[in-house]
Amino acid sequence: MIIVITGPQSSGKGTQAEILQKEYGFKHISTGDILREEVKADTLEGREADSYMKKGLLVPYDLNNTILKKALDKYKDKTILLDGYPRTLPQVEHLMKIAEVKCVIYINISDEVAVQRACNRRICTATNKIYILDKLTPQDYETCKLAGGEIVQRTDDNPKTIKARLKIYHEQTSPCLSYLEKHKIPVFKINGERPIDAISADVKQELKKIKLI
Ligand code: ADP
Repeated sequence: MIIVITGPQSSGKGTQAEILQKEYGFKHISTGDILREEVKADTLEGREADSYMKKGLLVPYDLNNTILKKALDKYKDKTILLDGYPRTLPQVEHLMKIAEVKCVIYINISDEVAVQRACNRRICTATNKIYILDKLTPQDYETCKLAGGEIVQRTDDNPKTIKARLKIYHEQTSPCLSYLEKHKIPVFKINGERPIDAISADVKQELKKIKLI
């Protein structure tokens, strides 16, 4: 069973998914995180994906579906919070064939806020935890170091690449929402330009309405 979590770059999908994972035992699967792990491990898939990701382009369909299948098989007994997939109409069609999609949490922000947030975003290479540059503390650096990682900026979090990713988002990912609605999947639209707790409260309220929590 799958809950899709979607929205533009830096809309806070990962943050909300982590909250739900912790509180309700769902499994958060981020295709972006999986791809970054493959790049880090310098696997064949990782090397291929890296050239696309660096430019802000989508990695090829087949490569992504292989990665998705591996992850879904591994956690087939859990409710999965799927983040980063589907991003295109062929991906959403594929997903509907192989899994039961229960609903979509759609966190929306403007492009302006997306660019500003992504430029300010840093990530721990060991845990994939997201940090905000202005709010980083010496303790955060220490925690990340202890986990065996470093706090870095993603190679695709620069203004030029973010704009390319947003363009793809509007042209290819947004139409997935209409597709899902047409197929009677509930899409919960949530304003992402608010504090984390307010967003989380709305997400939970929607999930309660359809008895997923
Ligand atoms: P964001 O949503 O902030 O752009 P992600 O971490 O979800 O970042 O994804 C980073 C990159 O990984 C994307 O720009 C793309 O290159 C690749 N990627 C992730 N998921 C997919 C997917 N479903 N299909 C194709 N490429 C993907």
